[in-house]
Amino acid sequence: MAVTERRTPDLGAGELPPLLVAERLDRLRGRFDGAGCDALVVSELANIRYLTGFTGSAALLLVTDDTAVFVTDGRYREQSSEQLGAAGVDAEVVIVSAEPDAELADRLTGSPTRVGLESESVSWAAQRRWADLLAGSELVPTSGVVSELRIVKDPGEAARIRTACDIADRAFATVRPMLAEGPTELAFAQALDAEMRRLGAEDVSFETIVASGPNGAKPHHRPGSRVVGPGDLVVVDFGALYEGYHSDMTRTVAVGEVDAERLRMLEVVLASQQAGVEAVAAGVEAREVDAACRSVIEDAGMGEAFLHSTGHGVGLDIHEEPRVSARSAATLSDGHVVTVEPGVYLPGIGGVRIEDTVLVTEDGCDRLTLTPKDPVLA
Ligand code: ZN
Ligand code: ZN
Repeated sequence: MAVTERRTPDLGAGELPPLLVAERLDRLRGRFDGAGCDALVVSELANIRYLTGFTGSAALLLVTDDTAVFVTDGRYREQSSEQLGAAGVDAEVVIVSAEPDAELADRLTGSPTRVGLESESVSWAAQRRWADLLAGSELVPTSGVVSELRIVKDPGEAARIRTACDIADRAFATVRPMLAEGPTELAFAQALDAEMRRLGAEDVSFETIVASGPNGAKPHHRPGSRVVGPGDLVVVDFGALYEGYHSDMTRTVAVGEVDAERLRMLEVVLASQQAGVEAVAAGVEAREVDAACRSVIEDAGMGEAFLHSTGHGVGLDIHEEPRVSARSAATLSDGHVVTVEPGVYLPGIGGVRIEDTVLVTEDGCDRLTLTPKDPVLA
């Protein structure tokens, strides 16, 4: 498959393509029949952000065939009107001091209907409460109704993820030489995080992983007081958050001279990751990408050291649909953004993981992570 790369031009935020938020409510309504509901209560905050542009920490959204009601509390009185207005979203904004769910339930009283709840994020207690509040309606557990919309990124979303990837690339290029100076894992992680923020990231995408030497055998090691030294492999997994969108990349750096076993691990994972990226294209099943990575590692006799799945979607959440795993039922399509991140982990020795974020295209992918993969620290 064709793998393309292009540098992000130096764009100010205002110059990125706009996010096409206003049209999303109608696209959501188009999915009601398939979900078996006449209305949907959206409670997952990332989904509410996707549908309305609201970035606050408390809200509920009721979407029916012809109305939308957005409920939040007094802290967000101005922000919610501003953000929904700026996005051109056609929804009534209601401010309550308590019980936003009761406010929404009142809107549905008298119109018996099938009301969908987001089953992945609604707790048992919340479901019980909805059952009380909506005694006259049928509650329908729905799954992935909004996330299946979110899976295909529009050009504005892709541009923001590309910018987030670019920030991570540039921060790593600046900070990487520090690994030769014997920093602690924590000092290196903090320097990388600070550089991403300096370059315009509003936050880090997730807690940066710096796993050196034997710590590398733990895929999600938290950076600690270990001093990075010659002969170490150092796994660095991190990302930047830009206008709500995440990036995710991993590089493994060899510090000074590393032994043959470690070089072999690097070689195998590099080949595996390349095979995975080259397997990505619209129409390809996600599990085929996993298989492409896995077979290289298995052929090298390290299959049991590949402890996780190959990748995941990236967007408003750091881990979202589609999953790139052996059990994934997803088929990749134009506009999906996924990671390809095989790794091997050997207790007592260390680990290697290499990860790019890529945008799926008709005939391959557009690599959004552009940091070179030469592992050797000059
Ligand atoms: Zn990662
Ligand atoms: Zn990842």
